[in-house]
Amino acid sequence: MNIFNAIKEGSKILKKNNIKFSALDCEILLAKVLKKERKYLILNLDKKLNRKNLEIYKNLINQRSYGKPIAYLTKKKDFWNSEFIVEEGTLIPRPDTEVLIEATLKLFKNRDYANILDVGVGSGCIILSILNEKPCFYGTGIDISSKSIILSKLNAKKLSVENRVKFIKTDVDNFSNGKYDLIISNPPYINSNKIKNLEKDVRNFEPKLALDGGLDGTFKILKVIKKASTLLKSNGKLILEIGYDQKKIIMSLLKKKGFYINNIVKDYAKNDRCVISTKIN
Ligand code: GLN
Repeated sequence: MNIFNAIKEGSKILKKNNIKFSALDCEILLAKVLKKERKYLILNLDKKLNRKNLEIYKNLINQRSYGKPIAYLTKKKDFWNSEFIVEEGTLIPRPDTEVLIEATLKLFKNRDYANILDVGVGSGCIILSILNEKPCFYGTGIDISSKSIILSKLNAKKLSVENRVKFIKTDVDNFSNGKYDLIISNPPYINSNKIKNLEKDVRNFEPKLALDGGLDGTFKILKVIKKASTLLKSNGKLILEIGYDQKKIIMSLLKKKGFYINNIVKDYAKNDRCVISTKIN
């Protein structure tokens, strides 16, 4: 089978299984199998696939047809300025989370030192993107998932920032090391009862641990806010990712715990997505 037909046949299978961007997904998967860029495929449509590569490709198409996210199949995802390694068991970096990076860089534009804590570090995409942009910043990432800690360490190496960051497997409630200029977190914030309404790819393949925020969605965010109020230096910043409908409740939780709200930032779809606050007492 040649490249043209492999994409055509693969795309038919994905379409039949209601996968939205069927042709694009096939191109990405085939490029991965051939260890080439996508443009190679377009320039070599007549080229025949050998039997081994065809088998690997078919297997990936089969997995994608059940809804397994592309990033788990290719084991990589672009986020901010870098490519991150992605593994099943950790949340795939989202474009919306990039607004946290943008907000941080704006807020710390004139700072050449900061000590950062990332709570629920996942793949490491948030803290590592910041360290990559700010060569004199240092940080710690914590997570209850050992998979996340292993993956974050790999990504730190990949971005060559491993000397400025450490990762610790712990629940935020049991962590009390250090004082921070910035605490940043994308905690699980989906209401437990609404997990079933998420897209199939997310619902069936991404870790509930990284999504489930308890019965009103704020259980984990509240843990982060409480801990931040003791771990932040005075005037330290807390930057949180929140659900599109959580602005009011999170603002009131923050105020109760002694934070001043600086700003709410919207994501690319114009949903409230990021709260920037300052510890004032
Ligand atoms: N934004 C993610 C989603 O829509 C949720 C991430 C989270 O709970 N922190 O799937």
